[in-house]
Amino acid sequence: MRPSLRLCVFALILLLGLLSSTALAARVERLIDTWRPTHYLVNITLNDQLSEITSASARIYLTIIKPTREIDVDFGDLTVDRVTLNGSSSTFLRKDGKLHFDLPQAANPRDVYIIEVFYHGKPKDGLILTNDKDGKPAAIGDNWPDRVHHWIPVLDHPSAKATVTFNITAPAGEEVIANGRLDHVETIASGQRTWTYSEGVPIPPYCMIIGVGQFAKAESAQRAPTPLSYYVPLSERELAQKGFSPASPSVEFFADKVAAYPYEKLALIVGATRYGGMENSGAIVFTSSLFNRNSTAGMSKTYGVPFGNVTLIAHEIAHQWFGDSVTESTWSDLWLSEGFATYFAGLFVQRYESEEAFQRYMRDASASVFAYEKKKRVPIFDRDTESLMDLLNPNNYQKGAWVLHMLRSNLGDDVFFRGIRAYYEAHKNSVASTEDLRAALEKASGKDLRAFFARWVYDSGHPQYELKWFWLGKKELRVVLTQKQPGNVFLDPIHLTISTAKGKRDVVLKPTGKLFIERIPLRDSPIKLDLDPNNQLLDESIISGG
Ligand SMILES: [Zn+2]
Repeated sequence: MRPSLRLCVFALILLLGLLSSTALAARVERLIDTWRPTHYLVNITLNDQLSEITSASARIYLTIIKPTREIDVDFGDLTVDRVTLNGSSSTFLRKDGKLHFDLPQAANPRDVYIIEVFYHGKPKDGLILTNDKDGKPAAIGDNWPDRVHHWIPVLDHPSAKATVTFNITAPAGEEVIANGRLDHVETIASGQRTWTYSEGVPIPPYCMIIGVGQFAKAESAQRAPTPLSYYVPLSERELAQKGFSPASPSVEFFADKVAAYPYEKLALIVGATRYGGMENSGAIVFTSSLFNRNSTAGMSKTYGVPFGNVTLIAHEIAHQWFGDSVTESTWSDLWLSEGFATYFAGLFVQRYESEEAFQRYMRDASASVFAYEKKKRVPIFDRDTESLMDLLNPNNYQKGAWVLHMLRSNLGDDVFFRGIRAYYEAHKNSVASTEDLRAALEKASGKDLRAFFARWVYDSGHPQYELKWFWLGKKELRVVLTQKQPGNVFLDPIHLTISTAKGKRDVVLKPTGKLFIERIPLRDSPIKLDLDPNNQLLDESIISGG
């Protein structure tokens, strides 16, 4: 997902508030090792105004992994009417946002249980019940990071992936969209219609979505590797084809670079989300202002839409592979979702806009990281930050993208993309950790990447070089490279271009410590030195000499 501008400001205020409080405790993750959900069957009936769930039931199919006598399911504060366990009426204890079940006997690995919760009410979060921009009522799921349990009882952690079937009953005039394939639409006696959607591959709970409202629906006019359709407010019917024109080439590009598109279809929806875009599997929601956004970063030469919309659309589509299909196994691994989506949107820009636009995109990304690191020095792999919303920061997005860019620069395109494809293939429709990514890239390259990951992902900061050079007039250039950043040394090799009156020469410096001196034989006096001339490293540098 990508935060909206308003959210960024909000996040900044929160962040400044946090900075004033010191000691951070390690975050507790909702990781359960005794059972896992495998499938959800969710039936929801909405009232005529789409302002309330009049009745609902969620059947949770779960498998026991380790012997246990109890199951806890996350659920918000909707009214629970009754509960069944394996078809029989069951008691439960409601406490701390959970429904707690004591099993009638000890459950053993591979045992299968079915819990069904019958409920109703007006969700306070997760399912946003509000008017669309035309003033028509709408209901849209918006669940990142763990808000789906306010309207569906689930195990609300990204690693708890499951398939899902939705039966959504709404007034006959409403359009309904959800994850997966539309199996059928049935008109029932009350004049309402029930829409059945089935998502056949496991998805993270934060990607489960329904959307109900008066949408103008259109199929993409462009060819795409999956059925591609648009759902926009009625007043924006004419804007959808051009506004979403980067979508079809995005799907094609990522399918070509990584693997086949992972879901049954892709719907792009304009509606309520607290983010700029939210990457629900096969049904992405974009902010209601998508087609009216200011183009602060200029217009795309390729698509004639704001450049920011090109990167936003490509970012959310890239998530279908990274985040949705290969899901972060813990919140500390969030960069495997956000850093990948940010970088792959950059790769799309490099391919379909221009090299110059890509370089600008990466420079803007580094500026965000440097500004963030002035305020907070934490690793990308962040086990401490307690508020999940605070993880929507430049570490997980822009610095994560830069880590991938540096790996690509170090390993070369062939090896890098081979490693990424192997990583995807090994973890698709499942979860992955930072160590899984490292292992895949090490296997593809034959290189030991432990030191790189230790410094760039598990530690904080970036190199701040000060390069001083001396021309000694004896056919020798002496360079003194000092790393001024607090914390440990960065051992990354750095390209240095030396310009003389006769031409240019490229050398690679391989620092061994924070102070590093190199003597370089050189025939002619240097005119200018450039450190990292091709922008392959997330660094800041000051150069002086003569
Ligand atoms: Zn994202």
